[in-house]
Amino acid sequence: MEKQRRGFLTRCRCGESVVLQTSGTSKNRGRLFHVCPFRKEGDWTHAFKWTDMSMVEELKDLTDKVDIIDGASMRLHKGLKACESEIDVLTIGLQELL
Ligand SMILES: [Zn+2]
Repeated sequence: MEKQRRGFLTRCRCGESVVLQTSGTSKNRGRLFHVCPFRKEGDWTHAFKWTDMSMVEELKDLTDKVDIIDGASMRLHKGLKACESEIDVLTIGLQELL
């Protein structure tokens, strides 16, 4: 089987947009899934993915992105503090010249 994209499916490889449906089987009753409208039972040509599995991937990818943004924010904050200190030094130097 072709490797499935991470996170929520939006489009099947056939080009059709996937739809969100609720399982009615006794094993998975009420469980959400994204599926290609052209998919038939047992046919893996068209897209199918459990929505809870997609959500786990989406959350993992989002937390990874938040970690990256957090790191960048910390570096910016340190840079800003260094600039503020430099401005203080320059201001004192300027006042001594006046
Ligand atoms: Zn399809």
